[in-house]
Amino acid sequence: MLSYRHSFHAGNHADVVKHTVQSLIIEAFKEKEKPFLYLDTHAGAGRYFLGSEHAEKTGEYLEGIARIWQRDDMPAELEAYMSAVNAYNKGGYLKYYPGSPLIARHLLREQDQLHMTELHPTDYPLLRHEFLKDDRSKVLRADGYQQLKSQLPPQSRRGFILIDPPYEIKTDYQAVVQGIQEGYKRFATGVYALWYPVVLRQQIKRMVKELEETGIRRILQIELAVQPDSDRRGMSASGMIVINPPWKLEQQMNTVLPWLHRVLVPEGIGHTKVSWITPE
Ligand code: SAM
Repeated sequence: MLSYRHSFHAGNHADVVKHTVQSLIIEAFKEKEKPFLYLDTHAGAGRYFLGSEHAEKTGEYLEGIARIWQRDDMPAELEAYMSAVNAYNKGGYLKYYPGSPLIARHLLREQDQLHMTELHPTDYPLLRHEFLKDDRSKVLRADGYQQLKSQLPPQSRRGFILIDPPYEIKTDYQAVVQGIQEGYKRFATGVYALWYPVVLRQQIKRMVKELEETGIRRILQIELAVQPDSDRRGMSASGMIVINPPWKLEQQMNTVLPWLHRVLVPEGIGHTKVSWITPE
């Protein structure tokens, strides 16, 4: 089943948090000259036109990126992320939202590598087309979880792995934990960032418990809720679970997340959280 299309959701509050974390991790990798691999297991289409029927239907980006992109009181932690958004929106008009592959493409250096997988028959060709002229990159129509076995460890022994499934099938909540375990077995020093939605809190509690049971240490949880938890339909919060986070990430998110919450949720409901699932 591949009915999920990210074009309905691109640039929403969840993308803002996800891509803030993604850009901060990439910037941390760049503090060393040595090349690294960026592996995006569930990459999406890459570029999203915000005037599309899909984006207009939900209008989710209006309560996400549109609320922050031209603020003049933005914390420095958003600079790298915003430089990517601005690169695809010249002229002061928010036309496109760059997904995780395009944010990585903008931030990575000549010596780094991007590997991306996407399964959707419509989104895969769009993504491939974006990267035709980028010889740092490899785009495959393949299963993202499989990459955690076949692509790791990277030759450079430095790697950032973004795992961002749609969770349209319930087994994704277990598949991500198994995938991380497979990846970690091969490459324990990699930085793994797993995105999750909070639709039913119980599902996330179970997933976190299973992650704890893997015995993996240094797992940081970052979350922004736009509503209190609820058992009604829809996503009330989203977050990133980061294994082996760069040492500054906790403090950076403690600075930027309350700002994002204030701007994204002017009603003041919901919450933010930065805490360790398992420390050292
Ligand atoms: N990471 C993207 C971003 O931040 O811009 C968004 C990705 S979207 C949430 C999830 C994507 O995963 C969808 O485009 C979907 O088609 C794709 N997908 C679903 N199952 C997959 C699988 N097993 N392997 C690779 N891609 C998959």
